[in-house]
Amino acid sequence: MTDCLFCKIINGDISVNKIYEDEDILAFHDINPQAPHHFLVIPKIHISTLNNTDNAQLLGKLTLTASSIAKELGFADEGYRVVMNCNEQGGQAVYHVHLHCLGGRALTWPPG
Ligand code: AMP
Ligand code: ZN
Repeated sequence: MTDCLFCKIINGDISVNKIYEDEDILAFHDINPQAPHHFLVIPKIHISTLNNTDNAQLLGKLTLTASSIAKELGFADEGYRVVMNCNEQGGQAVYHVHLHCLGGRALTWPPG
């Protein structure tokens, strides 16, 4: 989608601090980190929200890739959070599905 920020990142029109990439997904550091570690994992196909997909394989891959990266970056044992915001009340700002992974500090629960 031409007017989608994350599609522009996938196309290379906007550069990011990449962590991992394969044929299906891309992971990169969040530009406005909410924790010492904060990265995003996104599918390369445009899906606007979690309400608009039933692709269990792709959603599972996003999750397992977040876990692999947390291990690789060395904060998995201490703990981390993966979260996907959906629509307005879920706090979604970018309408291209993405998983947040946050770690490196004690995270509060419940979130605001
Ligand atoms: P959400 O509120 O769940 O839609 O999260 C969108 C996230 O994208 C926010 O945490 C932003 O900081 C992040 N973000 C927006 N633009 C960029 C960018 N150019 N590079 C990296 N992260 C970004
Ligand atoms: Zn998109």
